[in-house]
Order: sequence, then C-alpha cells, then structure tokens
Amino acid sequence: MYEPVIGLEIHAQLLTETKIFCGCSTRFGSPPNTNICPVCIGLPGALPVLNRRVVELAIRVAHALNCQVNPVSIFARKNYFYPDLPKGYQISQYERPIATGGSVEYAVAGVTRRVGITRAHLEEDAGKSLHEGFADSDRRTYLDFNRSGVPLLEIVSEPDLRSAAEAGEFFSRLREILVAIGVNDGNMEEGSLRCDANVSVRPVGTEKFGTKAEVKNLNSFRYVQKALEYEIERQTELVASGGRVAQETRLWDVAAGRTVSMRSKEEAHDYRYFPEPDLPPLEVDAAWVEVIRKSLAELPEARRQRFITQYALPEYDAGVLTQSPALADYFEATAALVDNPKAASNWVMGELTRKMNELGVDVADVPLAPAALAGLIRLVESGTISGPIAKDVFEKMYASGRAADDIVSVEGLARIDDVGALSAQIEEVMRTNDKAVRQYREGKTQTFGFLVGQVIKATAGKANPALVKDLLKKTLDQP
Ligand SMILES: [Zn+2]
Repeated sequence: MYEPVIGLEIHAQLLTETKIFCGCSTRFGSPPNTNICPVCIGLPGALPVLNRRVVELAIRVAHALNCQVNPVSIFARKNYFYPDLPKGYQISQYERPIATGGSVEYAVAGVTRRVGITRAHLEEDAGKSLHEGFADSDRRTYLDFNRSGVPLLEIVSEPDLRSAAEAGEFFSRLREILVAIGVNDGNMEEGSLRCDANVSVRPVGTEKFGTKAEVKNLNSFRYVQKALEYEIERQTELVASGGRVAQETRLWDVAAGRTVSMRSKEEAHDYRYFPEPDLPPLEVDAAWVEVIRKSLAELPEARRQRFITQYALPEYDAGVLTQSPALADYFEATAALVDNPKAASNWVMGELTRKMNELGVDVADVPLAPAALAGLIRLVESGTISGPIAKDVFEKMYASGRAADDIVSVEGLARIDDVGALSAQIEEVMRTNDKAVRQYREGKTQTFGFLVGQVIKATAGKANPALVKDLLKKTLDQP
C-alpha cells in the first residue's frame, strides 16, 4: 500500500492597481504590450522601485496564515532564459522571504485539519507567450509583456496533504482566505490564482519521502483534483512495479486528462540566485505590521465557527453563508432583526440566493435591504402570512421596494385563521368535490391531501393550513 505526499505552491496575484516595481497598470485584458515601461521589460539602466501596497498585502496574508513576518527580507535575481522574460532574470525573494512558518486550520465534517505553511515570498510575474489564436500561430509565437512585473505572492505549503481531495480542499480554503482579506480576486480563469503541486508516493508506514514530481499550472479546483488523482496513480503503479519516479516538472494536459513530462526538474543552484543589487533589503516596521494585523477582518473559518455557536446554525448553513463576506454580512444584519436566526439563514440561502442567481447579481446589487427581509420574516414567524404567500410577497418586495407589511395589508394577504370563513370554504369544496369526499369516507384517505389543497387554493393560499386540516378532518369524519 502506498500513500501520496502532497504540498502546494500557490501563486496569488496581489490586488494592486500598479505593478510591483513600476507604475504600469495591472489591469487584465488590456491590448497586448500597452501596460509596459522600461522597468518591467528590463531595459538597461531602468531601476525598480518597490510598491508599498504590495508589501502591505503580503503582510496581511502572513497574518491570515499565522506566519511570522520577517523584519528584513531580501529580493534576489533568479536567472533563467525564456522569451517571456526579457530581463533574463526574475526578481524574487529566495533565502529570506517576507513570511515564514505558518499554518491554516479548518474543520471538514467536524474534524479539524491543519496544513503547515512553509513560507510566502514576493516575486514579479513574467510575460505571456501566446502560442494560439493567430493566423500564423503554426509558425510564430507572440509575446505579451503586460503581465511582466505584476506582483505575486508565492505561498508554499508543507507536504501535509495526503490525497487529491485534501489538496483540492486546502486550495479552496486558501483561496477563500485570500479573497476575504482583499488581497486576491480569486479569479483562476484570468490566472490571478495558480497552483503547482509537488507529489510523491511512499509505502504506508514509512517516514522517508519518495522522489517528487511537480505538476504545474493547475488553474481550477477540478484540475488540481484530477491532475493529482492521475499523478498519484501513475507514480504508485511505477513504484509498485519496481520503477523509479523521475524528479521532473510535469504539465496537466486538460484535453488528454493526464500529466505529461515537461522538463527535468532544475535545482535551485541552476538559477544562480544572488541578491538584487538594485533593491535594498526590505525592512518592515514592527508597528506597521501590528497596524495591519489589527485591520484584518474576521477570517472565514473563524466566522463559520462563530455562526455555528452564536446563531445555533447547522455547519452546512454556516458554510454557505460565509462563502462571501458580503453574504455573511447580509445574513448577520437580517438575523439581528428577527427572533429566529435559522429563519434568516433559510431566507438568505433560499429565496434571496435563488433570486440573485436568477438575475445574475451579487449581494452588493440586491435592492432589498436586510431590514426589509427581516420585516417579511417577522410576518411569517408571527403567523401573519403563510409560507407560500411569503414567497409571493418576497417577489413583490424585490421588484417594487415596498415593505412586506404594506404589501400584505394593501393586498389583503394576511393569513385566514377565521374558523367561520374557513368552514364555509370547506363546505363549498366538499360540495364541488363530492367524489373525493365519498372516496375518503369509504376509506381512501389519500384524497384528504387533495381536498386540503383545494381549500387552500380557493383562498388563494391564505388559509392557515394547520387549521384547514383540523377543520376538514372534523367535517369529513362527521357522519
Ligand atoms: Zn512598467
């Protein structure tokens, strides 16, 4: 029996307006080579100047991942040739990164998982080679340097993950944290969050790691999982049949559904790292680090656990509601104004989310204020309106901006609890459905539900269903 050992390296683009060492825009989707300058394409004599905001965002991540923020870190040159790297080197922190030694903890089905964070270091992105999409793409590669110098934080995990599913879960938790603290937009299609995985296998019960392969460019949770499943199986078969895993870099081939060898893995010394002579050591002031720590919002996992204890919500609800900080805020504002937080959770996860999906809008664009939704929930909780009517009222509130009690009183939607009125309605329904009544009295009691439905329908959904059932049963059971 073999077990996989997996560690992830996640490249997160930091959410800044401008690049890490120059004032060029980081905007995605600009025409090729329009956001470039002598610094980011490395013309001789151009000097880099570190973007302060990049450092601030990296420190936020360090706090969120429980890392130590190093008072001094060093930028180095990582030398290699590639057409999308005109300088011939990438500026990256190497021996002394900005953050080291952290961890992420989260609960999966009630069990706490802990994944160590080795380090997080700052670096600049390279440009992009365009191999497809041009008439002469069979002969030429085009280069777009807009990405050159975009700020990245590379987060390296400890090899603490033991399955493809665990790795996918960790990547998703990490993404959630980065988005929640406002350092990354989480957009994997646009490449602002990328993941490489280091994978090896070893016999269960042994300590020593096997030879690892690196699988690159996993830009979705699904690819992380699929690529790792494939790679684990490939290595296990190889090792089990007496073969050896090569230390190499592999690519996930989406179309073929397998990993393919890209190049033999280079060693760190191949890059000839040396300190970047154009940038002084990065010194961060302890007081500033503390100011940033205090400004951090509650992290998603902490908020999830608080929702479970403070509002007595099921783990499922807490997970859904904390998927976005804005949705969680909306829920909390609603829950504060009703007696039953679970009812607020049901409405936010149910009708509100359904409506947002239907219209394709974010919670920020929802015209219905939490106070208005709370007003509707109070009418349901107090029994003033029935559940089905409440859904109609919700639609009307959403479309018109009117308050729930206004709609209910103007349109006469309040629940009918009047025994006299309901009894009259029941007699009417029994008269027009005499066949169902006869069947019921002959013992085919399944027609009862049909008759209840007819009475509620006759009152346009306003009848109190419990009362209808009670009265109908009594009337039917009378000889
Ligand atoms: Zn530039």
